[in-house]
Amino acid sequence: MNVAGVLLAAGGSTRFGQPKQLLEWNGVPMVAHVADGALEAGLSPVVAVLGHAAQEVQKALAGRPVRIATNWRWEEGLSTSIQAGLSVLPPETDAAVFLQCDQPLVTPDLLRRLVARFEETGAPIVCPAVQGQCTPPALFARSLFRELAGLTGDQGGRVLLLRYLDQVETVEVEDPDLLADLDTPEEYERLRKRYTPPSAAAVLASIHYLIVDMDGVLWRGDQPMPGLADFFATLRALGVRFVLATNNASKRPEEYREKLARFGVEVPLEAILTSAQATAEYLASFVPPGTPIYAIGGTGVRYALEEKGFVLTERDARYVVVGWDPDLHWQKMARAALLIQRGAGFIGTNPDITYPTPEGVVPGNGSNLAVLELTTGVKPVVIGKPEPGLFQAAIARMGATPEATAVLGDRLDTDILGGRRAGLRTILVLSGITSPEALARSPVRPDLVCASIRELAHLWVREVDRVDGDRQDLQDLQDLHDL
Ligand SMILES: [Mg+2]
Repeated sequence: MNVAGVLLAAGGSTRFGQPKQLLEWNGVPMVAHVADGALEAGLSPVVAVLGHAAQEVQKALAGRPVRIATNWRWEEGLSTSIQAGLSVLPPETDAAVFLQCDQPLVTPDLLRRLVARFEETGAPIVCPAVQGQCTPPALFARSLFRELAGLTGDQGGRVLLLRYLDQVETVEVEDPDLLADLDTPEEYERLRKRYTPPSAAAVLASIHYLIVDMDGVLWRGDQPMPGLADFFATLRALGVRFVLATNNASKRPEEYREKLARFGVEVPLEAILTSAQATAEYLASFVPPGTPIYAIGGTGVRYALEEKGFVLTERDARYVVVGWDPDLHWQKMARAALLIQRGAGFIGTNPDITYPTPEGVVPGNGSNLAVLELTTGVKPVVIGKPEPGLFQAAIARMGATPEATAVLGDRLDTDILGGRRAGLRTILVLSGITSPEALARSPVRPDLVCASIRELAHLWVREVDRVDGDRQDLQDLQDLHDL
């Protein structure tokens, strides 16, 4: 389903001495904070309707993938902003969530729950409710867009809410503050005091399972990161279970285990998960063994599919699985395209557009998927990061829950964005592809940022030690880190 976000940010409140949209929230202008939440929830596209102080507000959104709709008639009332927002939505939009820029405590998780309820029920309106009382932000299905566009003056979605009361689905919210809108400076100060992001200690204390990205985190090319063995010793001492998960589908898990062994770290084979394996597990969840599959990809892809009992064949395949393939040639692409056109399911192991080489980047699996999509008009189901499939497979393997699981990675656009979308905690290390400058510019916010796994291990031991000072095993580790 395509659910858009329409951020209504055109109003001109005079109570704050500056445009309300630009009040600081969690280090960024409030309008940017709310847009980030919508992006993180996966609403697409996110449209910001601007009016009052449009130029300044647009500047506050710079660098974010947000479409701007300017409402020149904003002074005529809310209905004009709703119209401006609707007018730029793409035709394939199934529903839109209308967000207010002065509800900064609405979480991406709540937005995802609204979308999930819509997908389950198909209700024309889904909104959050506190003790049964409906509150913005409300989701409206496409079937109501015409009526929304017909509102006048200061009428908002509430008119339709009353009209369709018996068809409204609600998502109950316990804490009314999460839906508070900041109408007065007093309310702004009160909520700002209440809302402080969780400390590093609180984040770390909540993590019992870790999904660890490898390149840029555990090693860089053929060089292990400093403190690699200590990092694993720390996880074991803390009782944190882990899966090492990679988008790279071309290698077999054994190859990663051997690489780690060369660096002095032993991990069981089950602790390694490639996007090829996650793809095979995904297929195995609804396709019986013996099903014919056409696979593009290296040994990693073939091994993972055969391990689940699928039969690899060129003829009459029911699914086409595409992973990065060093021996890719035109005939393979042609075969895949023909099978997809005949109705075979189309699955991509990972969406990486590029593949890094010492001489520069070359086409990655995402580029090959794009070629097949352009050829056939069929969109693939993609398993690797930032899609949720790989994370879900990792969580299932660990027997974990999303609330107790964190993603540790070096890429904002895959590890961190994907982790947040899957409802997981996220830890970024700056030892890989992301520079501090890129982090400062990005709308994607990890829960925790560390220079490296060495610093993370150190921090983790210190924070647990503070809470639970008499654990001798941790004391020993602390001494090790202090060396
Ligand atoms: Mg990486």
